[in-house]
Amino acid sequence: MRKVLVLNPMQLTSKKSSLLDNLFSEYLSISNLILEQLPNAKTSTELHHLTYQKIRKSSFLPSDIIQEARKDVWARRKKIKGLFRNCSIRLNKRWFKFRKTKRGSPVFRITYSPRQSFAIPISKDRQWQRFQSFTDNGWSFGNISLLKSGKIAVLLEKEFPKPNDEGRYILGIDIGSSTLASVTIFDRYKKKVVRQYYFGKDVTLRQRRYAERRAALQSLADKGSERAKRALRKLKNKQRNFVKTRSGQIAKQIINLAKKYNASVAIERLRNLRAKRGEFNRRSNQKINLIPYGKFREFLKSNAEMFSIPLHEIDAYHTSKWCPMCGALNDGHHKGNYALYKCKCGFVCNSDRKASLAVAVKSLLERTEFNYTNVVQISSRRAPVNGLLRPDEISRSSCGATYCQSDGKPSSEPNVLERQRTKFSGPTCRWVVYKILTRLPS
Ligand SMILES: [Zn+2]
Repeated sequence: MRKVLVLNPMQLTSKKSSLLDNLFSEYLSISNLILEQLPNAKTSTELHHLTYQKIRKSSFLPSDIIQEARKDVWARRKKIKGLFRNCSIRLNKRWFKFRKTKRGSPVFRITYSPRQSFAIPISKDRQWQRFQSFTDNGWSFGNISLLKSGKIAVLLEKEFPKPNDEGRYILGIDIGSSTLASVTIFDRYKKKVVRQYYFGKDVTLRQRRYAERRAALQSLADKGSERAKRALRKLKNKQRNFVKTRSGQIAKQIINLAKKYNASVAIERLRNLRAKRGEFNRRSNQKINLIPYGKFREFLKSNAEMFSIPLHEIDAYHTSKWCPMCGALNDGHHKGNYALYKCKCGFVCNSDRKASLAVAVKSLLERTEFNYTNVVQISSRRAPVNGLLRPDEISRSSCGATYCQSDGKPSSEPNVLERQRTKFSGPTCRWVVYKILTRLPS
């Protein structure tokens, strides 16, 4: 696992500052020299042959750093428009040394040319404390990046043991617009829901308030108010920090929950959550675009890895539409009430909560090999889960069993619920049934 931590420098002397400026302007100028040759090169190696000798003669930078610049240019070749204006300089172990002074102050000594070096003293602030706690816990670093301000980005690395995936419980997460994360803990032996939780309702509320305030300020800013523009910038930062903090906190809470139950975590695979134009009305669009989807997932993933908790990303196909009571497919959100899921069989539930359950079940499905003997039998209610599988997945499956009884043997009689299913028809091979608790904890 990798993490980047940015360390802040102490106030640099004017001599060091000008050295740093020199170093960066040199690096930028060679980057732009390499950029000029980019159209003539088909590969990174070709680019190297075209540029290296010439730059080596004229520049004071060591060969390693020149090559890093060339790699940078190659990596950014598709995005760059015009010339490079800012950059960071990646240094490997040969070109920096980390040590402590006699007084115990941390210092990075940077070698910027053979036998030429200078030291950047590190400020002992919160970032430094975090860095120390990482290195004390077995994280190591091999590379650093020097930033123009004198800050140092350290790439920390640590290997974690592979998680054991045989646990009894599955924790399904649905990320939604009204509740950031709805969680279902599912017992795969008893085939029952153990607990259900809602996390981050406050995030939605606060986000909505931020949005209103921003709209009001924006209209003033459009009329030319400088004060409104300043306030708007401030508000944007505040909102970003708030969302980031809460996403991290909620991810942590969920991982603690998974630790408590020794559960594996299931979450929907990353998809483009931005609403398409015309897909929903404007209000729903706003709601969807406010979900801190990426941040939350990132926090969840890194936390899961750190605590060796298995994390499965599942295909979200029909997870919001599937009825856990009868297996039918309905609209994910009820037209009259966005928070509700209603089925023709009479089942009514919070739609996010239901989706989190479907995510847990789907994760079980994706991990289970199906045949006659080990059919996943989940319930007396026998709600089919075929709706959760893509039609091509079902037809690809070769076993011919259509219905299974509670002992796992196929039965010839389709049950009543099967006939009642509304939308889905076609070969029903993977026949998995699922029981939901009659009384879900609220
Ligand atoms: Zn139903």
